[in-house]
Amino acid sequence: MALNLKLIGRMSNQEILKFCLENGFIIDKELFESLSQIDVSIAKKIIEKIKQVSNERLISKTILFNKSQEVSKIVTSFENENKKVVERLFISLGLNIEIKKEKTLEKEPRAEEEEEQGPASLRIITSHDIPTKKFKVNDFVRHFRNRFLEMKKILQERAELQNLVSINKISGNKQNLSIIGAVLSKRTTKNKNILLELEDMTGRISVLVNHEKKEAYEKAKEILLDDILAIKGSGNSEIVFVNDIIYPDLCLSERKKSEKEEYALFTSDLHVGSLRFLENNFLKFTEWLNGNLNSKDISTKVKYLFITGDCVDGVGVYPGQEELLKIKDIKKQYEKLAELLGRIRKDIHIILCPGQHDAVRVAEPQPILNKDYAQPIYALENVSLVSNPAVVGISDAKINVLMYHGASFHSFIGDIEALRIGKAHETPARVVKHMLKRRHLAPTHSSVVYVPNETEDPLFIKKAPDIITTGELHRPDIDIYNNILIISSSCWQSTTPFEEKIGNNPLPCKVPLLNLKTGAIKILDFSDKEEK
Ligand code: FE
Repeated sequence: MALNLKLIGRMSNQEILKFCLENGFIIDKELFESLSQIDVSIAKKIIEKIKQVSNERLISKTILFNKSQEVSKIVTSFENENKKVVERLFISLGLNIEIKKEKTLEKEPRAEEEEEQGPASLRIITSHDIPTKKFKVNDFVRHFRNRFLEMKKILQERAELQNLVSINKISGNKQNLSIIGAVLSKRTTKNKNILLELEDMTGRISVLVNHEKKEAYEKAKEILLDDILAIKGSGNSEIVFVNDIIYPDLCLSERKKSEKEEYALFTSDLHVGSLRFLENNFLKFTEWLNGNLNSKDISTKVKYLFITGDCVDGVGVYPGQEELLKIKDIKKQYEKLAELLGRIRKDIHIILCPGQHDAVRVAEPQPILNKDYAQPIYALENVSLVSNPAVVGISDAKINVLMYHGASFHSFIGDIEALRIGKAHETPARVVKHMLKRRHLAPTHSSVVYVPNETEDPLFIKKAPDIITTGELHRPDIDIYNNILIISSSCWQSTTPFEEKIGNNPLPCKVPLLNLKTGAIKILDFSDKEEK
């Protein structure tokens, strides 16, 4: 997916030009190009407001630099989504200081908001509700453009990126230059080198990674289409030879712990309604949670249960599914799920997001479960419904958990040789590390179905979570990446032909248990087999 900035520019250019001519204004080239990327009605309002504060015939970026307070006022004169669009526009022009401050303040939670969002110890930080509409090419272009600007902001802070230049500013032969770009294409040449085409807001350039530069070459082998990254190298406006590749990456300085002795459990992929749903094993799990089995001392301290998608098996999800369904009515599948979750003691907060089998749209971000189908779940007072993906704060909102079901797993594994050969379907945490490195849950355009969003890419990982939890591969796996805890969930369904087809090798009925005070993890086993 190209950033395709010129296409979108052409479409709104003429209207903005006409507006300026009719009102006797002239706009400088850089500001004009930036305004051409946003909605025309917003662009017109911005021009009017700049005109009011500047009183000049020529409206330029320089005027904005000299009037930072007025710029902040222009931003605050817009509301909601439009405000974010205007913020982003000014930030992209380099006018970010005052706007950033204001944005931070806005994000501070208000007491009443927290109360609305659930118990004090639990806070839903991000749950997306982006409506489906008829999307045009421009919507996808804006979506990618915003993602690029977000990633660029992060990458350009990296001290190692010396002599950072835009692609159209490369002239003559330059040593030690750095570029930030999105990967448009990737191929291996006859000489076994990797040739990439990178694009930024100003143009495109070929970039070559020589196979003799071992470290850079190993990194280049794992590059995916639409990755946004920085390269360090030498070259000219025709081609740049790469010395190093740098991703936006995520890192925490330390692992956060709860002050209280409390536990969180992580599960997903119940697939209630399937003939292969392991109901008796799940019931054993609910009995354990209620303190009716051994380890009562631990089970009574469980405070949170995360269910990361595929809560029911759904109906018509894949050809021939009906033969494998015990419950063929989607509403009845959710009734059954509610009955099972209703058995769990009420002081455990259950946080539940959908997956591809649930009765919501497949396009990500998937909204919360639909009330029309999952009404009985809404009746459970200890269940918080969130989107896929979502960010939830637990332990008095000190520990942030990013929930993502994981539709993109298969694309990562298919496209990265080391994951494909290494059978990463059995080690989901290895795949999650690639998401964290890229700060994106599904970077390649075709890897998942998604809803483009003009203001913010919901699959972009804005802030490092303390924990990322996933489902989809039906295998438990635990790892730590730069102090971020990765917890991939098991499932409650024995192997189906559909799973064999998509490469899953399930290990059901295993539940990771996290001691939030010490950070220690153990995997509880509710399977029938005597396994460690
Ligand atoms: Fe599943």
